[in-house]
Amino acid sequence: MLNLLPPTEKRKQFELRALGLRDFAGVTGDQPLDPFALAQFAKLLVVDFNSIENLSSESRNHLLGEGADEWSGGACSRLLPNGWRLVILNPAHGKQRNRATLMEEVAHVFLGHTPNRLAVVSGNPTVREGASKTLARDYNHDAEEAAYAIGAAALVPYASLRRFVMKGRTTQEIARHFRVSRQLVEYRIKVNHLWAEYKRASATGAEHV
Ligand SMILES: [Zn+2]
Repeated sequence: MLNLLPPTEKRKQFELRALGLRDFAGVTGDQPLDPFALAQFAKLLVVDFNSIENLSSESRNHLLGEGADEWSGGACSRLLPNGWRLVILNPAHGKQRNRATLMEEVAHVFLGHTPNRLAVVSGNPTVREGASKTLARDYNHDAEEAAYAIGAAALVPYASLRRFVMKGRTTQEIARHFRVSRQLVEYRIKVNHLWAEYKRASATGAEHV
């Protein structure tokens, strides 16, 4: 079956990569993708933040409190002896945002990007596109953009998103379906030029299925 692709060439390319990842993960159609399952194949070892030793309570409190907005997660640049890479996710961001962060790390691996240091980046999709709030990154700008965009597309594929939008589903409902944040769904709607459709469908009260 031919998949419906986004309107711009750039998004089309991202979408094809994302569909490849979904294929690899064995999910089809509207099925939500579990990045934690995919992380295994990417040899990413996701470690619970609370299990990190030698972190002062001061640092811990800062990272989860005042500084919680300034990092979403990171992958260690050095591989573990068994060839796996360590990934830490910010527990203050909640499961949904963690899934997008992990998906970005998975995309980096599948795209063959090589990191050179620990990344600490802002995980807010609305600021990520301009990368204005990125504090530090371990890949070049193009690689960052591609990994984030492809990860997001793998989580919320265009064809499903478009259909949900046409049906008048709210961003909240779509987010719940794909187990991602509402912000991620809004980001996907905007970059794929579906915002006008979304507004129209919600205004006319399209049939609510
Ligand atoms: Zn990245």
